[in-house]
Amino acid sequence: MQFYCESLTEYKRLKTREVMIGDLLLGNFHPIRVQTMTTTDTMDTMGTVEQSIRCIEAGAELIRITAPSKREAENLLNIKNELRKRGYTTPLVADIHFTPNAAEIAARIVEKVRVNPGNYVDKKKFEIIEYSDAEYQEEIDRIRERFTPLVKICKEYGTTMRIGTNHGSLSDRIMSRYGDTPIGMVESAMEFLRIARVENYHQVVLSMKSSNPQVMVHAYRLLVKTMFNEFGECYPLHLGVTEAGDGEDGRIKSAVGTGTLLEDGLGDTVRVSLTEDPELEIPVCKDLVKRYEHREPAVISREPIPPVEKLTYDPFSYRRRETFAVDNIGGKHVPVVIADLSRIGNIAPQHLQSAGYTYNKAMDKWKISDAAADYIFIGHQKLDFELPGTLKLIVYPATWQEAADKKNYFPVFSAKGFNEAEVVSTKMNFVMIDCFNDDTSINDFTDLDYFLTARDQSVRNNSIICLSSTNKDAMPAVRRMYIELMNRNIKNPVINIVDSNWQTADEHLIHYATEAGALLLEGMGDGICLGMTGEAYTAQGKRNASGRNYLNNETVEQFINNTAFSILQATRTRISKTEYISCPSCGRTLFDLQETTARIREVTNHLKGVKIAIMGCIVNGPGEMADADFGYVGSGPGKITLYRGKEVVKRNVNNKVAVEELVNLLKESEVWIEPSEVKIS
Ligand code: SF4
Repeated sequence: MQFYCESLTEYKRLKTREVMIGDLLLGNFHPIRVQTMTTTDTMDTMGTVEQSIRCIEAGAELIRITAPSKREAENLLNIKNELRKRGYTTPLVADIHFTPNAAEIAARIVEKVRVNPGNYVDKKKFEIIEYSDAEYQEEIDRIRERFTPLVKICKEYGTTMRIGTNHGSLSDRIMSRYGDTPIGMVESAMEFLRIARVENYHQVVLSMKSSNPQVMVHAYRLLVKTMFNEFGECYPLHLGVTEAGDGEDGRIKSAVGTGTLLEDGLGDTVRVSLTEDPELEIPVCKDLVKRYEHREPAVISREPIPPVEKLTYDPFSYRRRETFAVDNIGGKHVPVVIADLSRIGNIAPQHLQSAGYTYNKAMDKWKISDAAADYIFIGHQKLDFELPGTLKLIVYPATWQEAADKKNYFPVFSAKGFNEAEVVSTKMNFVMIDCFNDDTSINDFTDLDYFLTARDQSVRNNSIICLSSTNKDAMPAVRRMYIELMNRNIKNPVINIVDSNWQTADEHLIHYATEAGALLLEGMGDGICLGMTGEAYTAQGKRNASGRNYLNNETVEQFINNTAFSILQATRTRISKTEYISCPSCGRTLFDLQETTARIREVTNHLKGVKIAIMGCIVNGPGEMADADFGYVGSGPGKITLYRGKEVVKRNVNNKVAVEELVNLLKESEVWIEPSEVKIS
């Protein structure tokens, strides 16, 4: 194993122990399994059965059902019997929080139980207690006493267990010693895993979920390293970003976190937590997983990507690669977005709308949205209208030379072209560097060397490197180039160029979010430019399995521009809109999550940078407040509790007026802006 995975330069699955869930084999190179969780009341046997069947028909290989108390745990038998009677043998998983007695019943009925080490034994009081080593050990002994009976039942009944850590519900004990950190998350699971191993019980799967993709990626990597160091082997990993939300944002956030881990060969099963019907999660899981089905080495004429001998960055914590600034790119500037409008012929003012700029002819003014691209690439064109003040153009070198306006036009060169060019910009040049492309014989740093031997240092210091790759392992290829840049102490800003050759809206979203998001999470990237191959661009209207189609009300360019800003938001590198952390809902949910999320979104989506958590119940509620500014949490039938950070501000508000009360809370907290005041022109 290298650092935390098998290879940083080519796709290789991490070897994990094999576990059996009913008839389903998981881990040990078995296909990555896709799963979901029902949202019905577990006491509604037929409703849960019908919904499970819809999920199974969509391709779910595991179905999780909540069991908040003994009653629901017992009813799992009725659900299981009904499913089996109808010929469905898909393994069922009981989801347990707080209630060991429900777990002990469920473990005798279903094929797998999920326990949350943050609340299986510990009751959360949000207290910071200082534990001496002896007191801490006493707590571990208490966990052992309470958890061992479940392990024994699982052993006896052949039931698998997931030790599912959640960033939002770590115990007070873990929080006191480690804080809500990836180390704390790992230790929380390891305490339970060590107990299971002492009992010689190995049918274990682990997860490290968080609504923050950065935290979850670091936690999973650290878990792998910790397991490997301590046991010399790894247990299978269940991947997921919790409370990812809905629509594009939910898919993008999930792909940024889960996709980053899958790229490194981590992950044996995937769940995408969307605030949508559970069967709609399955096509997204499949889109995430199918990217790795044909990653076997292609027939190529080049050597493999050079291996990484020494890591130049910390894969367990976030730190942005150090760069100097060229204009507004790099240094301390937020990553920029470059919109590619080069496929639009005769670009007119209205076309800039896809990049976030709307021209008001009557007022002769531009309205610039929060998701307005910083640069647009227009290929060989020159524009014959006045640009919005903040916008700059990137063109091919010959067009740049012809352009009278050298203040707003900048050239993009190939590395070789830059090396050989007689004239380059003294202000800013973009230089394309290919990273270990599959379709060339270049297997080294030829392009980088062209760049480094071009001109004098002062011209290179005005240059922005653009990294792209057609390698089957494109993200690792680009990451390898970043490592080389760091090794050679090259501090030019870098733009990540990601092209998609997929077909449907979701496939594109997942591709962009995985490839660009993974790099941004490593601290690599001072900007992104997303594009489509010609074939994909022409197939722009194709719907995906869940019927989503981005052409309903967007152009391809608009879709790509919005996606770019959402990826920056999901990686927390540039905030341009309100952030919603909404749970997918389950049988514990105390109100209609989808409808409420839509209502809250409708009234708050102009509050840039404000993070609002919408939780069906208290399980992850207060914990997730660590990551949110405001919380709207179900606290009883028809009752909502409102939070500011972790502080309860209004308890048991009638849900009919709770959205209004949330707005009042935002006003009292001085984060509210009237929607009419937001417009920037
Ligand atoms: S937070 Fe949402 S998904 Fe999680 S247990 Fe509560 S209702 Fe279910």
